[in-house]
Amino acid sequence: MKHVNLLILDDKEENIVSLSALLSEVEHIHIISSTDPNEALKICWKNDIAIALVDVQMPEINGFEFVSLLKSNPKTNHIMAIMVTAISKEDKYLLKGLESGAVDYLYKPLNPEITIAKVSSFVSQIHIQEEIKQKNIALEESQRQLILAKEEAEEARKSKESFLANMSHEIRTPINGIVGIIHILRNTSLNDEQRDWINRLDSASNSLLLIINDILDISKIDSGMMRIEYENFSIHKKLTDINNFFKIKALDKHITFETIIDPQLPEYIKSSPIRIQQIIDNFISNALKFTKEGKITLKASVVEQEDAQCTIKFTVTDTGIGIKSEALEKIFLAFEQGDDSITKKYGGTGLGLAIVKRLADLLDGKIEAESTYGVGSTFSFQATFQKIDDFKQQETLDTETIPSLHKFDHVRILVAEDNELNSFMLEHILKSWGCEVDVAKNGHIAIEYVNQYDYDLIMMDTHMPVMSGFEAIQEIKTHPNPQKASTPIITISASVLEHEQAAAYEAGADSVIGKPFDPIDLYQKIDKLISKRV
Ligand code: ADP
Repeated sequence: MKHVNLLILDDKEENIVSLSALLSEVEHIHIISSTDPNEALKICWKNDIAIALVDVQMPEINGFEFVSLLKSNPKTNHIMAIMVTAISKEDKYLLKGLESGAVDYLYKPLNPEITIAKVSSFVSQIHIQEEIKQKNIALEESQRQLILAKEEAEEARKSKESFLANMSHEIRTPINGIVGIIHILRNTSLNDEQRDWINRLDSASNSLLLIINDILDISKIDSGMMRIEYENFSIHKKLTDINNFFKIKALDKHITFETIIDPQLPEYIKSSPIRIQQIIDNFISNALKFTKEGKITLKASVVEQEDAQCTIKFTVTDTGIGIKSEALEKIFLAFEQGDDSITKKYGGTGLGLAIVKRLADLLDGKIEAESTYGVGSTFSFQATFQKIDDFKQQETLDTETIPSLHKFDHVRILVAEDNELNSFMLEHILKSWGCEVDVAKNGHIAIEYVNQYDYDLIMMDTHMPVMSGFEAIQEIKTHPNPQKASTPIITISASVLEHEQAAAYEAGADSVIGKPFDPIDLYQKIDKLISKRV
């Protein structure tokens, strides 16, 4: 234990000697003494004195004045002063000492036991204080570390976000090119073998896109960037769409697929149709993947119904390979699959169920899995939804029912896109719809074109060298010529991040299209914007 410096101030040397002798029994103290208050003050300034035993009656500066001086100096005001006095124990003296800042009194003639006990108690108080001080320092340090770690985590989150945005752009851009070229090739005359190649290419690029979407989804959820968008929708229609889609896929594998809907199921609910579909799609895709024969059943049952709320359980049951009980616990973890043999035989990233679990949490729902190895599995998602009684669903254009795309008449479009494959593909698609097309490789060139020619529409990539799409949009939208400033602009955003898409609208874009995009979707957007203009 650290020694505590104790000062004895008494104008009589013999008092110092006797008090020092008495205190020799107290452990962990180092005694310094003086007969002169001025010298004692200097000692207190220069040494780390913790306790001072101060004689009250002294010529020049008395004990009370000395303690007041100690207390008035920030360098010495921490010193515990104990007055040593021979004068009466009257309250007024006691008060005077306490007012000057003393913590206690010792009365002459000194009682050895009381003196030792008091000083020992102050020494241990000082040790405790020292310990608290050290702990405070450690606490402050760990607090500093925590703030630092928080800042680092924030920094990491930000770089993850920009990495996501960049990766999203870098990967989606070439895929956009591939998907577009596939679309162009499909519309050329092909023999059966070539059509088969195109189908394979199409399916490969779709799988690639699914994997990228999964990686982006899990990163978005884990960095808190996944926003659930709630809307009113028909749950019946959603289930019918899912049923129609997977029935065909199941048929290809000679598996029966059926959907059972509880008659109690409300027509409309408020939730995120995209995320609900993502969860159910995932269950069914897995069921299809791991089932060779038999049946897959999608069931939607009402668990509880109360006024405006309804708890619905969506269950997918299959007669597939099943999951061993030890693997069942792991499959909801990211990058985990049943076992290694599954990876070898069936492929996959092990991300699907991890995403499903996180999405269910975001929707305040729960996921359950039961399985009998070799017999089959059941996966379910249960959540409580708000029922919607009266809701007119917006008529959405069903792309499959569009009879044929009519050609645009005298429409001139500027494509600002730095990626050659993409601009080539866009130019080709737009020309096939009868448009006249100019291509600019960056925002700066795009502005020059806009100054020179009149366009009916501009398609603008967001990330471009020299001048970004955002800057170019802002410049066009504030063009001195009102005709040019009102040219509709569709930004081509490869980002899946909502805030980037929002930034495009903020910059002045009239519409946003993702990468890769569905050509029909693009056609509809152009058609809408152009017809508004005329
Ligand atoms: P992956 O994309 O690799 O299939 P998932 O997260 O979707 O990843 O699934 C994780 C693992 O859970 C799979 O690798 C498989 O072992 C197991 N699994 C999921 N669904 C089923 C199912 N219906 N039948 C058998 N095993 C399944």
